[in-house]
Amino acid sequence: MTTATIVGGGPNGLAAAVYLARSGVDVTVLEAADTVGGGVRSSGGIVDGLIHDHCAAFHPMAVGSPFLAGLDLQSRGVRWLLADADCAHPIDGGRAGVLYTSVGRTADGLAADAALWRGLFESTSGSFDTWSSDIMGPLLRVPKHPFRLARFGAPTALPAAVLARAFRTPEGRALFGGVAAHTFRPLNRPLTSAIGLGILTAGHRHGWPVVEGGSGVLIAALVDILKSLGGQIETGCRVESAADLPASDITMYDLAPTAVAQLLGDRLPPRIRKAYRKFRYGPGAFKVDFAIDGPIPWSNPDVGRAGTVHLGGEFAEIAATEKMISTGKMPERPFVLLGQQFLADPSRSAGDINPVYSYAHVPNGFTGDATEAIIGQIERFAPGFRDRIVGTAVRSTTEMSVYNPNYVGGDICTGAKDLPQLVFGPRTTLDPYSLGIAGSYICSAATPPGPGAHGMCGANAAAQALRELGG
Ligand SMILES: Cc1cc2nc3c(=O)[nH]c(=O)nc-3n(C[C@H](O)[C@H](O)[C@H](O)COP(=O)(O)OP(=O)(O)OC[C@H]3O[C@@H](n4cnc5c(N)ncnc54)[C@H](O)[C@@H]3O)c2cc1C
Repeated sequence: MTTATIVGGGPNGLAAAVYLARSGVDVTVLEAADTVGGGVRSSGGIVDGLIHDHCAAFHPMAVGSPFLAGLDLQSRGVRWLLADADCAHPIDGGRAGVLYTSVGRTADGLAADAALWRGLFESTSGSFDTWSSDIMGPLLRVPKHPFRLARFGAPTALPAAVLARAFRTPEGRALFGGVAAHTFRPLNRPLTSAIGLGILTAGHRHGWPVVEGGSGVLIAALVDILKSLGGQIETGCRVESAADLPASDITMYDLAPTAVAQLLGDRLPPRIRKAYRKFRYGPGAFKVDFAIDGPIPWSNPDVGRAGTVHLGGEFAEIAATEKMISTGKMPERPFVLLGQQFLADPSRSAGDINPVYSYAHVPNGFTGDATEAIIGQIERFAPGFRDRIVGTAVRSTTEMSVYNPNYVGGDICTGAKDLPQLVFGPRTTLDPYSLGIAGSYICSAATPPGPGAHGMCGANAAAQALRELGG
């Protein structure tokens, strides 16, 4: 029987494990932490009964994942829930851009930018299911739907700062800019529109849902499927060296490229070892979870209906703060992503006490405390928020990288999404999952299609492993 060892039990490691086990492979997952899940865990916390997502919270990419869609997740307890609005972006003066799953409803709220929004998203989101597989793997390959992909792809090549000039309202520009900021890059760089347009297009097809009961329910479902197929999981098992690994036909590394280089050392071909050692990481995230009494007192009531809230002011301000963090400087008012998952999923609250999720974009390895900066950004658009806080839990960039070694310096994307790493993955190659050793592959979010709880890096690497084993 073919055997496989998967190092790291994040969503990509588990997706690879399920993919291989479905093909009859005898799979074992080795996970360093006490529980699998990587960036997709959740738990109770600050106040009894509250449920907090530790990392990934909103799932336009998971709900649209071709691999996850092929598993019967619903029968294993996964229910996707949507707030009335997917995302809101307040700006000073009580105004806000609001993103709905419907392109039309979003456009109607954007006044002079309505036609632009429809032009960008109406056709591409309508046909998303047809062509999305073309962006769910290595970008440089022959697409199955070249014309539809070209329609989506043309604006993605632009720097977000250039595309932003096409917007006529500060609300529209900020709404686009806040989503573009998910790339953690200075917004004047090439391809900085790509990740934002991808998330927006997927969101206009599927919404930005949360998982009922916390993101960890998605992981529990994958574990359940894996075990039903005979797969095994060993937790508390940190792999430090290739010598620790059992002999297997296939070995998958759901790890950051620098960790793979360290673990495999001289076993890697020199060109791959050199590229992995030079792999670049992006800015970090500083996370603060709150327990608050009642809802957040937003100045603009529309913001109180949105699952995700982007706090960073107008486009120019976000562009400036994203540029600062990329050069190692901490802005006074950083870009903050805030989650009100309890709006879609009231089961996460305890009576009137609600869990609020937030993280600020900060320099990689930032050693300061960003808690006050985050509270300041929330207070700016929701005066009185501070008085509602009944508890906080903080995870700094250092703690983030201890919690999960894949988040080097707090980089939650597992690598800077600069042009070469976004297009090719961890090294300049058309074969991003291969480690140049027969049967060995990298399958973490450092590989295409990149970060997110979609499991596609794992599924793509596993498909390649089976093809190569068969050939
Ligand atoms: C704060 C935050 C917010 C996010 N928000 C979202 C969101 O809203 N939506 C979304 O789609 N994505 C989001 N993400 C990104 C998403 O969580 C990641 O892209 C995804 O988890 C990557 O999956 P992975 O399997 O590649 O790796 P990871 O999830 O990083 O898992 C890697 C696993 O490998 C284990 N490991 C590491 N080293 C070793 C070793 N030596 N031996 C054994 N095991 C090891 C780790 O413990 C971990 O369990 C967020 C991430 C963070 C941190």
